[in-house]
Amino acid sequence: MNVLIINAGSSSLKYQLMDPETGAVSAKGLCERIYIDGRLTHNANGKKIVKDIPMPTHSEAIQAVLAILVDPVDGVIKSTDEIDAVGHRVLHGGMEFFDSCIINDEVIAAIEKCIPLGPLHNPANLMGIRACQEVMPDTPMVAVFDTAFHMTMPKEAYLYALPLDYYKRLKVRRYGFHGTSHRYVSKRVCEFLGLDRSKTRVITCHLGNGSSMAAVDGGKCVDTSMGITPLEGVIMGTRSGSMDPAVVQYIANNEHMTVDEVLNMCNKKSGLLGISGLSSDMRDIDAAADSGHERAIIARDMLIHGIRKYIGSYAAVMNGVDVIVFTAGIGENGAELRERVMSGFEFLGAKLDPVKNVEGNRKESVISTDDSKVKICVIPTDEEIVIARDTLCIVTGKPIE
Ligand code: ADP
Repeated sequence: MNVLIINAGSSSLKYQLMDPETGAVSAKGLCERIYIDGRLTHNANGKKIVKDIPMPTHSEAIQAVLAILVDPVDGVIKSTDEIDAVGHRVLHGGMEFFDSCIINDEVIAAIEKCIPLGPLHNPANLMGIRACQEVMPDTPMVAVFDTAFHMTMPKEAYLYALPLDYYKRLKVRRYGFHGTSHRYVSKRVCEFLGLDRSKTRVITCHLGNGSSMAAVDGGKCVDTSMGITPLEGVIMGTRSGSMDPAVVQYIANNEHMTVDEVLNMCNKKSGLLGISGLSSDMRDIDAAADSGHERAIIARDMLIHGIRKYIGSYAAVMNGVDVIVFTAGIGENGAELRERVMSGFEFLGAKLDPVKNVEGNRKESVISTDDSKVKICVIPTDEEIVIARDTLCIVTGKPIE
């Protein structure tokens, strides 16, 4: 079986063609500069191809993807009939979606309804869906939401303490993001360790350009760090993470900026970039901090401090913790950061093994000592396999795992 996985952004579109049963990826690539000029980067048959192709809209981008997938030389299938289903990543499912689902007119209307909550991503995701429907009208399509996994949070975790009317009328609440990743690593780590997921308390640390933490108790998310948007939580590449919302008003008044301008600054110019004044990329921060750059040192310390705070609070929320998992770019590669995050957590029963930690980069591994009560692990995330498997389950009528 072949599932085409689509992750459409406002000017880009990532794709993968995967067999969901084996996880084998036969082709993957990226359309960039949609609406500007258009460039396709395609990886298949051990070869990377870059082509300039006009992409005035997402439709032409999808057409370019299908054309290269069936190309006699660079393609991997003979005809688009060999694509059995399409799985779309959708950012914001609001309070409409608790699970992945087949895309029909009602689902499209509900994704549209969530646009005010995801004003940048949802319209792009919809463009990807519509473009695919145009060129593959008979192929079943499935939507997989970044927010869905977090919908099991209890009220005390997802409500903001504002007049309740704002929740009721405007659906102002914590939603959380990276749900597909938190779901994958929290499940995979239990399989990897041979633990019963329904009885295991896991803290997942997804640390990438965007970072979020989650508390997963018995396979269900009970709390997460991102909020109504991905701005809340730990300090990220360019996002501030949590802060007193009065900061927005204070800066707006003093700098004669609008709320939108201040929030744009909080999203795009803050975080590691804003504090270090150097870069949003952790590799640059590490290199600068190691050579004594003071602002880079503070930026890194702030990230470590934030992650530690969430680990402590999520252990409290779940009356303990059995497994702590690190994933995504920084979580999978950052051995030194993991060591500093976990230092001093012996009081909680979590003891990192410094040698296993260094060896654990980029692969499924246990990085705690043999006598550590809490297992600390690295699990490389794989959001695409989740999208492909959900798509397979939904189109074949099997229950989603
Ligand atoms: P995205 O959120 O865009 O998917 P990723 O999960 O790819 O991001 O993570 C990107 C982050 O991972 C960047 O900050 C990058 O510097 C960091 N990263 C990648 N490799 C390393 C490494 N070897 N050591 C520390 N950080 C790393």
